[in-house]
Amino acid sequence: MANAANAIGELAECLREARLGKALSRQDLATKLGCSITTVQRAEGGGAPPPWSTVRDYVGIVDLDPGETEALWKKAVAFRRKITRPSFTQSPGIDLVRTPDELGAALARAWEDSGRPSTREMEQRADRHYQETRSYASLSRSSAERFSRRKSLPGSERTLQAYLVALRIPERRFPMWVQAWRRVQHHRLSQRMADREQVKLTHRMEAPFAKARMQEAGLIPREKFPGAVAPWSAVHTSCAQVSRYRLRSVLQGLAHCPVCGDWLSAGTGEGENH
Ligand SMILES: [Zn+2]
Repeated sequence: MANAANAIGELAECLREARLGKALSRQDLATKLGCSITTVQRAEGGGAPPPWSTVRDYVGIVDLDPGETEALWKKAVAFRRKITRPSFTQSPGIDLVRTPDELGAALARAWEDSGRPSTREMEQRADRHYQETRSYASLSRSSAERFSRRKSLPGSERTLQAYLVALRIPERRFPMWVQAWRRVQHHRLSQRMADREQVKLTHRMEAPFAKARMQEAGLIPREKFPGAVAPWSAVHTSCAQVSRYRLRSVLQGLAHCPVCGDWLSAGTGEGENH
């Protein structure tokens, strides 16, 4: 989870909470933004402030005040400028690394500290070590490029160790790196679980509203509310056929029954107190 104690963390938390408030997974949001899930992860990771264009797109989709959010973003950028040294990586000691972003920074930093070897050189070093000892793994040039430029993280301990071999980091230091890698996996898992819980809770709160809107449109749901953008199996009362509908399309008046062709629309749920 981002460290809310500084302005970058505050912005990251704000973006994450706004997304969860809309019951959107990171993938849902990435799809709506038309960006990769990595962009969403970075924006909410608290390592560096995302570009303004990303923040502006968030504002357009989740419930955020544009003025307040812009102020928060400016504070984050100012904070980033204050802490940024000439080196492009900020990383805590490897024994303090907890988040994916911190590990990414540490991996990039290690590459810088070892004199920025080329990807070809790194591939050769790892390969030679692997041929000789059969320990760890080989390392492709594209992996070497991705880890050293902070684009992705090693997917396994063996790949991590191959990267360390490629940077000529002494083997006695490997266990610390492996521990850090494991902490990051744990962090990711627990955050994913927390996200899922939050989404479930929001769905539970919204379920009665969702069901009422479906019924107005002549649809009787046959399963639990899966969220506004997921297909939801329901019976169309006029033709008694089961199909799958998205609540959002129903609310937008864009849904129709694929069997009988009727257009379906629901009210907004306002002005119901007659
Ligand atoms: Zn029908």
